[in-house]
Amino acid sequence: MASGIQAVAEAIDRIDWESVRSPDPPAFVRRSASRGLRALALAGDQAEAVGATGYLFDSVLVDRQLAVVMPAAAAAAPVLVGIAAHGHPWARAGAGSLLGAMLEFLPFEGFTRVDTEHATAVPLCCAVAHQVAAGRAELAARGRESAGLLRAAEQHWRFEVTEAVGTGPQGLFAVGDLTGELPAGPVRAELHTPAGGLSVIGVEVEYPAWAGGTEACLRVGSARGAGLDGAVLMPAGCGARVY
Ligand SMILES: [Zn+2]
Repeated sequence: MASGIQAVAEAIDRIDWESVRSPDPPAFVRRSASRGLRALALAGDQAEAVGATGYLFDSVLVDRQLAVVMPAAAAAAPVLVGIAAHGHPWARAGAGSLLGAMLEFLPFEGFTRVDTEHATAVPLCCAVAHQVAAGRAELAARGRESAGLLRAAEQHWRFEVTEAVGTGPQGLFAVGDLTGELPAGPVRAELHTPAGGLSVIGVEVEYPAWAGGTEACLRVGSARGAGLDGAVLMPAGCGARVY
């Protein structure tokens, strides 16, 4: 067995599943994420991979019936990215479809956000997408198989402000690192401050990242006294998504 997938399987045990908040199960007890992920990671043939994928589509990660995604999805996303990159071909397909569903399905009220390494209270779809983006190199090596997933993740862009510049008549600008694809026109963005503050502001690309780099500059519409330095911006529309 490839050492890559062995490392992925071991990572499942290091996740503190008990600490992940989850909506109360309705009439049934939701199936365990770790058990399904382990089965998918170690699947050695089509039947095992398809079985594990079906199990996870009706678990604490997502509910396919309701098209709902739950906070455990964010914890599971790095594992699924690893499986999508290193698993059995059928397991790779299953992991890819689970990640795609996590980006598409809606979260329940009260379970729409999770804390991540980038910011607190990140919309669930963006938290999953950021994990997909973090695995971009591994996933891109799979070619067309992962292209759709990577494209979908790009919509959940993230802009990490390194420096706020100027407050004169030209307005306020933020220089920083862009991950994903920020639309060209004015957009509404969630502003997550290092202290945990959350507000919505208008931004527009002043100059884009170029030549494969990530540094870009945004014109900031209305950051009234908002601390931009060290803040993280992401699409405001994602924060409004709820079942
Ligand atoms: Zn999002």
